[in-house]
Amino acid sequence: MSATQLGFTGMPTRLFTCTPSRLTTWLDCPRRYKFVYVDRPSPPKGAPWAHNSVGASVHSALAAWWSLPVERRTPDAAAGLLREKWIGLGFRDDAQEAEWRERAAGMVASYVETLDPHAEPVGIERTVAMRTDRLAVSGRIDRLDRRGDELVVVDYKTGRHILTTDDARGSLALALYALAAARTMRRECVKVELHHLPTGAVIEWQHTDETLARHLGRAADIAAEAAAAHASGEDSAFPPNPGHMCGWCDFSAHCPEGRAAKAAYAPWAGLAPDITPSSDD
Ligand code: SF4
Repeated sequence: MSATQLGFTGMPTRLFTCTPSRLTTWLDCPRRYKFVYVDRPSPPKGAPWAHNSVGASVHSALAAWWSLPVERRTPDAAAGLLREKWIGLGFRDDAQEAEWRERAAGMVASYVETLDPHAEPVGIERTVAMRTDRLAVSGRIDRLDRRGDELVVVDYKTGRHILTTDDARGSLALALYALAAARTMRRECVKVELHHLPTGAVIEWQHTDETLARHLGRAADIAAEAAAAHASGEDSAFPPNPGHMCGWCDFSAHCPEGRAAKAAYAPWAGLAPDITPSSDD
């Protein structure tokens, strides 16, 4: 267990070590949190999701594209890298996989056409970290740009969900990334962007010190709840949170309440235009 609170008067409170994903997992469902972060060994996950394969392949291809010499950063190269990095897991059959591989190749090629290959990012899949008196947060940013004097957090999205400003403004992960990037790089970082590859939309949000402080306070509150559950060690401290999202849960097979709420979707269901999976990235 990496996070406990000592709880004795006058004793220091141990930092809660986490990623944004750990905090949002707690918010979504404490039982899923237990499966992922507490139980050892962690229970086996269900089958891989095709939409996650698409997302991971796109992220890998874009990271590799930036590592090419600048003269080779072309749309064709991006499509080639996508095919090279392709993860073919979770698809219904070979035909569906091939269709999505080419669709994803087109997506990254169109996206990089909008980029200036000379605008070297400050970081690609860069890990940033920060500490407060209650939290030690770290996470990996898809891309960190420097524009003028400031840093901008860029997060790639590949899901079907149409994004709005609320998604950028309300994202705990993006806010923590901005705070951690500023601390790590010692430079202002208040702007966050979601780059939605299927539509080419860029959704941006400019934080203020106040909005970032609110997110940080929220993160500390979530961490305190999770730490209290760790300290209790009781199964009942990690209750299920059954709902429609249980259909996307990797641990549905181990959770009767979740299965009763929503049967597991097929591994390729998240590719459908009218369904939004939980891990829509
Ligand atoms: S199936 Fe639902 S309730 Fe069960 S662990 Fe997963 S998200 Fe939580």
